[in-house]
Amino acid sequence: MSQTLLEMTKDLVMAQIQAKTLPPEDMHQALQQTYASLQALKAQEDAYGSVAVATLETPPKPIDWRKSVTKHVVTCLECGVSLKQLSVRHLKEHGLDGRSYREKYRIPRTQPLAAKEVTAKRQEIVQRSRPWEKAPTFVKAQEEKKREEAAVAPKKRTAQRKGTARAKA
Ligand SMILES: [Zn+2]
Repeated sequence: MSQTLLEMTKDLVMAQIQAKTLPPEDMHQALQQTYASLQALKAQEDAYGSVAVATLETPPKPIDWRKSVTKHVVTCLECGVSLKQLSVRHLKEHGLDGRSYREKYRIPRTQPLAAKEVTAKRQEIVQRSRPWEKAPTFVKAQEEKKREEAAVAPKKRTAQRKGTARAKA
């Protein structure tokens, strides 16, 4: 590459001498200056060239929604504001709702749009109150399960005894 620059420099300076815009005694200085200018231009070109290549090879990363949901806050990927949860009202300001927001940022449908601690607290409340256990069908199912367990219990005990015997032997 420097060979080409050197040749270009020589040609440029020679052209100036031939055009009589440059006295031959100034040739040495002109050569140095021209070469330096070309080197600077080349460096610039290389810099821009490498930037262009890097852009081609690594396209801008898609926004990772996982980073937007942290322990204490959820960051709105539309406006960057950090909240405890992304309310329907807030998303509406961006012309979105929970569904379109998730679609836009490829967030799974099961992902709550809230800070992890908010989600955890909500789940804890649900777990503690166990609303489904108050449902008659659940209670009935539990009773049936207990009856079934009582029915198979003797078999289980036999199996256990066998297991203990084998363990001793
Ligand atoms: Zn927002």
